[in-house]
Amino acid sequence: MATTVKIVARPAGIRRQSYLIAVVEGMWVTFRHLMKNWTGNVLGRRAKTDIATLSYPEQKKAYPERNRGLHRLMKRDDGQVRCVACMMCPTVCPAHCITIVPEESPNGGIEKRPRIFEIDELRCVVCGLCVEACPCDAIRMDTGIHASPTLRRGDAILDKEELLSRGDKSTAVQGGAGPFWRIRSR
Ligand code: SF4
Ligand code: SF4
Repeated sequence: MATTVKIVARPAGIRRQSYLIAVVEGMWVTFRHLMKNWTGNVLGRRAKTDIATLSYPEQKKAYPERNRGLHRLMKRDDGQVRCVACMMCPTVCPAHCITIVPEESPNGGIEKRPRIFEIDELRCVVCGLCVEACPCDAIRMDTGIHASPTLRRGDAILDKEELLSRGDKSTAVQGGAGPFWRIRSR
């Protein structure tokens, strides 16, 4: 296949050839925003400025209803974990950050439950596929909490106890009847 070369003409005129003018223009834009923010903060004229900034963490913006926050494990009526260790979520997880070690459930051996359930929040890409894949509303990401920075990698691995501490009784009903299972409950 023949390749062609396109010769681009040098820009004409001092304004196009000199980068100094563009630098000055950029600095002017930065200075204008600086003054706008400064007068908005110092003189209490925030409402009159059009720069949307927030003094985080003193001010926090409300997350949208479908925000994906830190994971939590939901509970049954008796407070036990809803998860039946079906392994759907670690199978679908694209980041391979869910670790489950199943064990036999004490309810007659007809179900499994997780002996170990861990999520590495540093590897999680917050895709929400684990929540979608779960057949029994056992895992949710509707906490509205985002992962905190950690000094040690191991601190970002959430274990079953921590995931359950944010858990709540599920609205799901065996067989799919009952209220819409995604109704927010905290
Ligand atoms: S949100 Fe996505 S990446 Fe994170 S644990 Fe669930 S499936 Fe894995
Ligand atoms: S998909 Fe749900 S029930 Fe299955 S292992 Fe994951 S959390 Fe447990």
